[in-house]
Amino acid sequence: MTRSISIFGATGSIGASTLDLVGRQPEEWRVEALTANCQAAELARLARQHGARIAVVADEGCLPELRGHLAGSGIEAAGGAQALVDAAARGADLTVAAIVGCAGLAPTMAAIRAGKTVALANKEALVSAGEVMTAAVRRHGATLLPVDSEHNAIFQCLAGNDIADVAVITLTASGGPLRDWPLERLRGATAAEAVAHPNWSMGAKISVDSATMFNKGLEFIEAFHLFPVGHERLRIVVHPQSVIHSMVEYRDGSTLAQLGPADMRVPIASTLAWPRRMDTPCKPLDLPAIGQLTFFAPDEDRFPATRLAREAVVAGGGAAAVLNAANEVAVAAFLSGQIAFTRIAQIVAQVLETYSPAPPMTLDEVLAVDGEARRRATTMLRPA
Ligand code: NDP
Repeated sequence: MTRSISIFGATGSIGASTLDLVGRQPEEWRVEALTANCQAAELARLARQHGARIAVVADEGCLPELRGHLAGSGIEAAGGAQALVDAAARGADLTVAAIVGCAGLAPTMAAIRAGKTVALANKEALVSAGEVMTAAVRRHGATLLPVDSEHNAIFQCLAGNDIADVAVITLTASGGPLRDWPLERLRGATAAEAVAHPNWSMGAKISVDSATMFNKGLEFIEAFHLFPVGHERLRIVVHPQSVIHSMVEYRDGSTLAQLGPADMRVPIASTLAWPRRMDTPCKPLDLPAIGQLTFFAPDEDRFPATRLAREAVVAGGGAAAVLNAANEVAVAAFLSGQIAFTRIAQIVAQVLETYSPAPPMTLDEVLAVDGEARRRATTMLRPA
């Protein structure tokens, strides 16, 4: 039976991987909405290629260009923040949330409110909204499937088991491209060095997050909300080969791990086909060629992000939304050459120290905390 699918962030790395898989099964899918921020030409090309019903640019200023590229196609064009939310509220059978940053929160919440299935790559949305999002999932009977490779691995390792039997959930981290750099060298890391991930090909923001370990910090918070075992049972281990994507240890001493190639099409396919399986074009694992799997404890002196994330979870309230917003501002400033690499974690820590909002209870309150944390982080954008 054909299912409808909408992809928010269709022009990005996760969007491309998802459309690659969808394009291999045209009989399975009818594409409802595809969205971008402002890459209008690319969005229009994808919308035509996949026969989307509507294409939406978040930046309304890019709508005339989108309209021009879609002229004569019969595909609806829309623009602006509300158009994004309206497109999500159409309630496709499966919505892939793959916008980068808290910008994806409102449309993701709209898709959840439609009560269908949401495949979540946009970790910043869950980190910021936390219980506001998980409560909405319960209230609207939606299904949230994790796309993030670690959370998808955990989801798979939990299948058929009782979460009450979990002793420890271990998130693996590649450690990123700067894993072995001493602190003095980290200060001078350039954007090109930080985004050169050894295993994964990803968008710029998550690549910097991998280099700072904020990606793992965000994932720690994401796991805290997706898998309610308590933060004390969540661990992080550095595993540079990115072969084991995460593990669940049970109280009887059994540890289940999910392994696979470092290709996001594998976890995306697991959400597209869930609860079944589908073929992918991914190269299977060749364990003899890989040879060795190694593991290290994270170094939180050089990479304080995972400590800050754990502290934000313990602090509760709006701390996770503050951490996320400050990190988004700092990463953008680092990518534009405004601040040094090591300033990213310093700015996040400083904003967390000075701003402890009460727990946001609604989407609007989450967005208000996010906005205030951004404002405070922006005032700190001076070189170290
Ligand atoms: P990309 O930067 O490659 O793509 C981001 C997408 O979001 C693009 O379609 C972009 O549109 C759109 N976008 C950017 N800003 C806005 C905005 N303000 N409003 C609406 N849309 C916007 O990111 P990735 O695909 O790498 O990552 C997407 C999400 O998935 C992130 O949350 C990331 O953490 C998560 N993720 C990514 C993984 C990966 O392998 N890439 C792995 C696991 C999780 P435009 O092209 O017009 O700029």
